[in-house]
Amino acid sequence: MTDILRTGSASQEYDATPAGVVGNEAGGTCRNSNHSTAETPAVRVASLKKAYDDIEAIREVSFDVSNGEFLSVLGPSGCGKSTLLMMIAGLIVPTRGEIRVKDAVVDGPRREVGMVFQTPVLLPWRTVLKNVLFPIELLKLPRAQYQPRAMELLRMAKIEEFAGRLPRQLSGGMRQRAAICRALVHDPSLLLMDEPFSALDAITRDEMGVELLRIWQANRKTVIFVTHSIREAAFLSDRVLVMGRRPSSIIDELRIELPRPRQLDMTEDETFNRYVRHLRKAIEASHAG
Ligand code: ADP
Ligand code: MG
Repeated sequence: MTDILRTGSASQEYDATPAGVVGNEAGGTCRNSNHSTAETPAVRVASLKKAYDDIEAIREVSFDVSNGEFLSVLGPSGCGKSTLLMMIAGLIVPTRGEIRVKDAVVDGPRREVGMVFQTPVLLPWRTVLKNVLFPIELLKLPRAQYQPRAMELLRMAKIEEFAGRLPRQLSGGMRQRAAICRALVHDPSLLLMDEPFSALDAITRDEMGVELLRIWQANRKTVIFVTHSIREAAFLSDRVLVMGRRPSSIIDELRIELPRPRQLDMTEDETFNRYVRHLRKAIEASHAG
């Protein structure tokens, strides 16, 4: 979509021709075919592979994401989570395989995708409101029309009184909330989040999770949330995919049936802790193997 989504680490970006994107029979190894419906999935990842020169990062990954689903991808550091997300965002070209967003093959950044990075990349000289409106400028959408929406998002994220401040006047948690508002401002149907809370302290992180779920439920987005935190994945998600160590594949899938809206005290329940144990075992098994 925009330069805002590009980071220094995004090597092997798309150029005019999406080389390396090849078709295949979709769903061959889809693990969640049991809940597939006639509806087109929000995202379909089919036989995706990624190598950086001689480093095989992702061996083979296939999965679908339903419309409105909150999906987490959980895996150890270095297993290829960011690589996977950047490919879905259309910022990195897969070595093989295909990604579809709403049935359209991803061959570059797409407007219906919003992305939140691990550290909030806000422009330091722009106010919070102007940072949130930045995608609107890049997409050449009418600013006057989107400003009320930007303010509404800031209100939902409880930082509306900071709209006129500069990023450095905000705490880390507030900056990350502003980055989430920015990812949502052009009303993308798909929100990609790459360990967005990992730089925050544990208490702020828990609160941000609850905030995110509130914003997600109010906005009806599909979310793919990348994390290496087992508890975070279990608390937030409808479903968790577990990636093994590099060269990675999906080694487990777990549906989280906890009721919504989720509350932090649910993390003390036995049901929640059963999910956590299941996920921990899956990760440990991948380390042993
Ligand atoms: P994660 O986000 O799960 O920590 P990454 O997707 O960042 O993992 O990286 C997966 C693997 O690919 C790592 O071994 C990493 O060193 C390698 N890698 C990531 N980006 C590049 C790059 N631009 N060039 C070469 N290797 C890379
Ligand atoms: Mg990463």
